[in-house]
Amino acid sequence: MKYSLVASLILQGSLVLGTRDLQPVHFKAPSALHFRDIVRNDTYDFGCRPIAHPTEDGQFTLHALLTESQIAHLTEEYEDTDLSIHRPSEKRAAAATAPIGSGDRFSGGTIAPIGLGTKASGSTISSILNVKEISSAVQGLVSTYGVTTLNLPYKTFNGATQFAAYVGAGTDKSQYHLYLSAGVHARERGGPDNLIYWISDLLAASKAGSGLTYGKKTYTNAQVKSVLAAGIVFFPLVNPDGVTYDQSSGSLWRKNRNTKSGSSGDSIGVDINRNFDFLWNFKKYFDPSEAPASTSPSSETFYGTAAASEPETKNHVSIYDSFPKIRWFMDIHSAAGDILYSWGDDDDQTTSTTMNFLNSAYDGKRGPVGDSAYKEYIPSVDLTNIKTAATAAVNAMKAVGGRSYITQQAVGLYPTSGASDDYSFSRFWAKSGVNKVYGYTMEFGYSTNFYPTLTEFNQNILDTNAGFMDWALAAISVGLT
Ligand SMILES: [Zn+2]
Repeated sequence: MKYSLVASLILQGSLVLGTRDLQPVHFKAPSALHFRDIVRNDTYDFGCRPIAHPTEDGQFTLHALLTESQIAHLTEEYEDTDLSIHRPSEKRAAAATAPIGSGDRFSGGTIAPIGLGTKASGSTISSILNVKEISSAVQGLVSTYGVTTLNLPYKTFNGATQFAAYVGAGTDKSQYHLYLSAGVHARERGGPDNLIYWISDLLAASKAGSGLTYGKKTYTNAQVKSVLAAGIVFFPLVNPDGVTYDQSSGSLWRKNRNTKSGSSGDSIGVDINRNFDFLWNFKKYFDPSEAPASTSPSSETFYGTAAASEPETKNHVSIYDSFPKIRWFMDIHSAAGDILYSWGDDDDQTTSTTMNFLNSAYDGKRGPVGDSAYKEYIPSVDLTNIKTAATAAVNAMKAVGGRSYITQQAVGLYPTSGASDDYSFSRFWAKSGVNKVYGYTMEFGYSTNFYPTLTEFNQNILDTNAGFMDWALAAISVGLT
């Protein structure tokens, strides 16, 4: 056995046993405001971003991953209040998670992946794509259907070359209007799979002259062809270093693996989804009571050393420059069960054009939801348009028949800074001469359930793929230019 392999096995063992013993829990309270103090503590891990979800019994839940000592502390802190802390059912806690593929099921890119929408009803995919398979799967699409790949300019901290791919609208990059990315947060397993299998379905159905079926939701061949013709750019694995690490350690790793700000344990890595150039320097732009990101390297929301300091962020941004007519963007995350639309830094408002993220008069005031000190400007026509596509997508996801999804403004009750969706929409105002992009975050799957069971993994593919279809069809209907 080689030394490096021995070392990596020792590393894996110590991680599983030790430093990241996080337990999924959820808080329950009569209002989402009850969670504000908890959410403002940037040492707690709220998953992709903290979102309070309404429950059927009129309460609200907030999901988190906490250590036993954090759970004990909060249990004591909130004793005798109407905020309660709950653990998942024993059945859920004991459920086996979907395996990661071993080897390369696409044989070095000579075999194309086949999605669930073009397979017989009830078919399943047996494991999650490993990092090598994600690129091999895309190569399989290249060799089978003529998808084109594009190497991105920056190498990751661990030296990986990143790629995006584009399909449907020929060689002219100004004909591409839809952009989807996945795999930003390493532990959100199945994100790249959802995207790759959907692209595979579009190509297979287009070629065969057939439609697509996701559970109870069906699409015609004409719809498939129109979605492809919109021109799709996809960046299926934004965080390969993080995913490589997460898949080998099972440590619920979220960030990238940059050691510039910290070289051990949780201090490694930057949260790519707090690193984008949108109100990145949150200490300056936000009300001091808010924690839209963190300056602490050991936090799950560590914002990095500068706006777009990370190669993954730079590569993500480079795609807008390569494809200047991208009009619609979706970042695929888990796990919550919603689609989030602009803005994420504060409440939306449609009346005051000067109350906006570029206006320094509002520095130090952004973030608190429900107050009038600051709300983010969004033209009413844009708000209508972005809601239209979000609603279409969640309706399609519900129509699959698996579970319910909701749409929500990204801010929910708690702001974020430096996120990919806000960055995409902000470009139009922050940079001259660029296209307006409507940006979304999809959070598939069940709350904080980053490692789905095999059944859930397959359901997530069906749900998201129908969501992508109706999101794209709504985008076409609203307009691509
Ligand atoms: Zn996420």
